Amino acid sequence: MGYSSLVSYINLSPNRTSPRNNKIDTITIHCMAGNLSIETCGRLFANYNTQASSNYGISSDGRIGLYVDENNRSWCTSSPFNDNRAITIEVANDGGAPDWHVSDKALQSLTKLCVDICKRNAIKKLVWSTDKYTRMNHLDGCNMTVHRDYANKACPGDYLYRLQQQIANDVNKAMNSDLRYRVHQQTYGWLPWVYEGECAGYTGRSKRAESIILESTKVGLMYMVHQQTYGDSQWFTNGQQAGVTGQSKRLEGFAVKCTTKGKRIRYKGHIQGIGWTDWCYDGEFCGTRGQSRRLEAIIIEFC
Ligand SMILES: [Zn+2]
Repeated sequence: MGYSSLVSYINLSPNRTSPRNNKIDTITIHCMAGNLSIETCGRLFANYNTQASSNYGISSDGRIGLYVDENNRSWCTSSPFNDNRAITIEVANDGGAPDWHVSDKALQSLTKLCVDICKRNAIKKLVWSTDKYTRMNHLDGCNMTVHRDYANKACPGDYLYRLQQQIANDVNKAMNSDLRYRVHQQTYGWLPWVYEGECAGYTGRSKRAESIILESTKVGLMYMVHQQTYGDSQWFTNGQQAGVTGQSKRLEGFAVKCTTKGKRIRYKGHIQGIGWTDWCYDGEFCGTRGQSRRLEAIIIEFC
């Protein structure tokens, strides 16, 4: 068995060729042409009469299902040549034709899943081409294909088609970065590390962040927090804890600087009564002072 640990539902389809006859070097993103849950999609592919499947499915709530183990070829793209070398992913649509819009949660999971697939299968980066011939012949390193190249289909829908380059950029950025950070949150304590661009901390649960830690082995980082009672902290560096835990003091804001030349950093915070702030850049304070509003979650990325 070979599959992503991001999977939360498994329903293996009989519609597969086992094993695949080619190394995995391609990702093909499809749209379900409907707002199917991963369970509904799984039941469809579990039926032999469907004569179709995909390796993975993603529903609009962002959950990921497995239908065909990565070691096997799915019946997804109307092309054995493609599907023997590709991981195929069906994504649910929260909008109709011709755009076949996809939810932000599904898109986030799709990016995460692609990063995970690339890492495990030694795909160094995703390369998209707007040229059909280049895509179908895998020229110039192109390793993203689309169903509409192989059959008279709208798949993956105009929305996901337009986003292919953006998805490649996001996946490549995440693979190259080792920026990670975590939040110490009221009730939960230290939450797991998350990586560049991901959300650290829970929103919608009215819980204060109390401390943060940032780490990267590739770039220099400095960061500070503004905390209830204590005000602005000093600037901390890579791996140090900013903020006091065990005293029930809320963080109200934070700031991050990147000390590596040529790198810019941006970040936002989820603030009580306000929600997500706009992006703040390179040392700019993010949050509030003197308003008794708790910081609940943060997102940090290079730009
Ligand atoms: Zn398709």
